[in-house]
Amino acid sequence: MSGLSLFSHPDYDSHERVLHFFDANSGVQGVIAIHNTYRGPSLGGCRIWPYTTGAEALTDALRLSRGMTYKAALANLNLGGGKAVIMANAKTDKSEEFFKGIAQAVNDLCGKYITAEDVGTTVKDMVVMKKYTNHVVGLPENLDQDDGDPSPYTSYGIFQGILASVKHRFKTDQMTGLTVAVQGVGKVGYHLCHLLHAAGVKIIACDLDEQNVARVVNECQATRVDPEKIYGVEADILSPCALGGMINDDTIHQFKVAVIAGGANNQLALPRHGAALHARKILYAPDYAISAGGLIRVTYDGKDFQRQDVMDHVSQIYQTMLEVYNRAEEQGILPSQAADQVAEKRFGKI
Ligand code: NAD
Repeated sequence: MSGLSLFSHPDYDSHERVLHFFDANSGVQGVIAIHNTYRGPSLGGCRIWPYTTGAEALTDALRLSRGMTYKAALANLNLGGGKAVIMANAKTDKSEEFFKGIAQAVNDLCGKYITAEDVGTTVKDMVVMKKYTNHVVGLPENLDQDDGDPSPYTSYGIFQGILASVKHRFKTDQMTGLTVAVQGVGKVGYHLCHLLHAAGVKIIACDLDEQNVARVVNECQATRVDPEKIYGVEADILSPCALGGMINDDTIHQFKVAVIAGGANNQLALPRHGAALHARKILYAPDYAISAGGLIRVTYDGKDFQRQDVMDHVSQIYQTMLEVYNRAEEQGILPSQAADQVAEKRFGKI
């Protein structure tokens, strides 16, 4: 894509840098997008996904990096937003040379972009990357307390966001007896199911991977549902923990829940879908506001790492969410607009 068409791309939002790269040695190719570095270097995971076209990969990189800017600002971290998306199959294409190729592209950005684990990558992959670049975080620390996987912290933050949503919507601190439908029970969805189960919540779960569903059926007494049926299930809360764009023209009329609160990045296919949820009286927890737990975790890399410090920090998401909901109510705006306002003020947009 030429620079000119990048600037007219619908998801281009004054991104500071967009790097397309191809490593001839390993054949790895992808896009690294840096959205904004006003508060600090951009940070965001390295996603491996079998994108069928470069345009799809670019769109994801632009949208996800922008989301990271908002997420870091709302969590009050001195970081900006970036993302690496790699056009490959995470099950078959990974090798040391492959990660060396990605690391070299990261190095080309001279520290303006810091990478981490994401969909399709693992902490082990980040340990391999660390051999070739210093610009990587989310590594194992104090192994008795933490194996470097940010997902449990992300799930804990989402759980806090669900608690705040329940408080705001149902005026209660009680979770027992509520039903939560979880779309995607991979790393984040799995840990979330355990927290919900421990709180006495009934869980309905789906995943494209049947083994993942079986895990939460066995361990958390979840009820399985087919992936295409998740949008229409009767539940109190829907928690999207798979991929983005699941709130769209096809799904919006199917929802039978009072709250949507989950960790998948970019859940609204378009901003107008936030207004459509509001019109249907569905409370929407802006995804970047409640999924910051993993990002908070990776800022704690280092030998003084204490798990409890991170958990205390992540639990502040509860308060942030209540503030977002109250601000939205006071000003008669959407929660997503209220969260955007707070974030944009912090990263210098307004
Ligand atoms: P993951 O790959 O471990 O899990 C995602 C799961 O969703 C997989 O099991 C996959 O089979 C399933 N899935 C994909 N499409 C689906 C569909 N249409 N219906 C049902 N299931 C489907 O990834 P993860 O780390 O758990 O991340 C989940 C989401 O949360 C992603 O959007 C990610 O960007 C976001 N997120 C993750 C973290 C983290 O710490 N891992 C942090 C912030 C945000």
